[in-house]
Amino acid sequence: MEDTIFDKIISGEMDADIVFENDDVVAFRDINPQAPTHVLVVPRARMESIAETTNHDPQVIGRIIHGIAETARTLGLEENGYRVVFNTGTDALQTVPYIHAHVLAGRKMAWPPG
Ligand code: 5GP
Repeated sequence: MEDTIFDKIISGEMDADIVFENDDVVAFRDINPQAPTHVLVVPRARMESIAETTNHDPQVIGRIIHGIAETARTLGLEENGYRVVFNTGTDALQTVPYIHAHVLAGRKMAWPPG
């Protein structure tokens, strides 16, 4: 599979504003933020989307969620809360075919989402 932007950010080939990383995930600011805080949490284990997680050990998925929570804590988002979004596939408008969680915070969110 061809490298995506996120492969290049994880490998260091492309610059990004990294806010948190551990052995499992890399978290960096979205280039086109949709909220005062908008961070993408990307696992080092490459997969295309949530749909592909069924092919992986559930522990891998647990580590992604853990990485999201650690990122939010590092950014001080726990008190007011945050939204986590995994766009998956065409209707959800996933544009980068590498699984990533959007972590959005710093404003009141709307529901239902658009
Ligand atoms: P998706 O639409 O696939 O759920 O989200 C992809 C996200 O990646 C978008 O929010 C977009 O702004 C972000 N993005 C695209 N290219 C880059 C880039 O080169 N650097 C960073 N930091 N974010 C990017």
